[in-house]
Amino acid sequence: MRTRFAPSPTGPLHLGHAYSAILAHDMARAAGGQFLLRIEDIDRSRSRPEWERQIQRDLSWLGLTWDGPILRQSDRQAAYDTALDDLWSRGLLYPCSCNRRDIAAAAGAPNEGEPPMGPDGIVYPGTCRPAANRPWRDRPRPRNVALRLDMRAALASLGLASGDRLSFIETGGGEGTSVGQIAFAAQELIDRVGDVVLARREMGSSYHLAVVLDDAFQGITHVVRGADLFEATRIHVLLQRLFGLSTPLYHHHRLIRDENGKRLAKRDDARAIAKYREDGATPSDIRKMVRLPTSRNG
Ligand code: GLU
Repeated sequence: MRTRFAPSPTGPLHLGHAYSAILAHDMARAAGGQFLLRIEDIDRSRSRPEWERQIQRDLSWLGLTWDGPILRQSDRQAAYDTALDDLWSRGLLYPCSCNRRDIAAAAGAPNEGEPPMGPDGIVYPGTCRPAANRPWRDRPRPRNVALRLDMRAALASLGLASGDRLSFIETGGGEGTSVGQIAFAAQELIDRVGDVVLARREMGSSYHLAVVLDDAFQGITHVVRGADLFEATRIHVLLQRLFGLSTPLYHHHRLIRDENGKRLAKRDDARAIAKYREDGATPSDIRKMVRLPTSRNG
């Protein structure tokens, strides 16, 4: 078994991160497996080396050890480029210049009800999607533009008809999600996911592309992460199919909430692990706060 913790170095680790990291770590250790650390720093404008150092300090303080070198997404652009070139040459990507406001305006005429929402927000209404037969796909892939996956074309390229099903195995079931084989029809990817962004203008990748390529590169067998990413997993399964990668097991865990039941925000500094440490908490206090056994094997 090989698990990973994949924080973005854009702020302090808080209780929610600690829960995710400890869970992934303990699962791997209990199985005699490996636990890897990946720094998801594709967003250069928000990532800071000092946050990465702080993350490492916090994880070590929590008593977590990771195997092998740390993988940084900022070192992986060549792999992302190769994958994007591949999809581009297969005619599955197109440039998109829409911003959020354009998308909201195109998706929702006021009398048509709420536009369908997917894992990344409003399902893209297809404004920039080209008509069939893309003559431009023989040209080099454009840089510094957002690129979207043409979901219909992607499914067709895999020979998937609308009723065909894709699936993954879920072992976590956090936040009321189901456990077992999670199957979904190709049509759902069209209706409820749509043409996701695989390269952002200013980043050269997107979370979905990077996470799929990196989990495969690191040989992750069990992806342990928050249930907020459960819906996004359908995108990841499709990308694995497009790249011929195997699908790991997924363990989506419950989310850590504050006393009002609200999910901890990324930048909830009041619940930063460093703050608890300064206030005299011990690592086993943190385990208790997130309702995890205090002995690793317990
Ligand atoms: N970097 C992501 C986050 O901090 C983790 C994504 C994942 O585990 O797949 O939310």
